[in-house]
Amino acid sequence: MRTCSGHSHDLLNALERKGLRHLVKPERAQAAAQEYLTGETTDATFDPYVAAVMEIQGKAVDLRAVKQWDPVDTCALCAVNLHTRTPTMASAWIDNVTDLMHATALANGIVKGGAGERILHA
Ligand SMILES: [Zn+2]
Repeated sequence: MRTCSGHSHDLLNALERKGLRHLVKPERAQAAAQEYLTGETTDATFDPYVAAVMEIQGKAVDLRAVKQWDPVDTCALCAVNLHTRTPTMASAWIDNVTDLMHATALANGIVKGGAGERILHA
């Protein structure tokens, strides 16, 4: 699955607003995705864009808005808007998942602003 350019832009803007944009490293997205899948993400390799896309895709599959074997150019967020017949659903998901990424980054001391339980490996 691929996030369409519009939703990719929206996701990056949300990460920018939440102070996480500097953690996005497109050049190592594939490695970040693999690490996220296998639970090997570290403070140094946490990529909130990759993690957000994977969380969105998993949630879209759970909701049956998309299937894991859908064509690679299927955007999970476009599919969710269609599936739920709610054109604002993708925006809500982007806001929620980037809040989650922000909480994860805060909890692990990757960004400043608060303390919490560590979730990722040191
Ligand atoms: Zn889309």
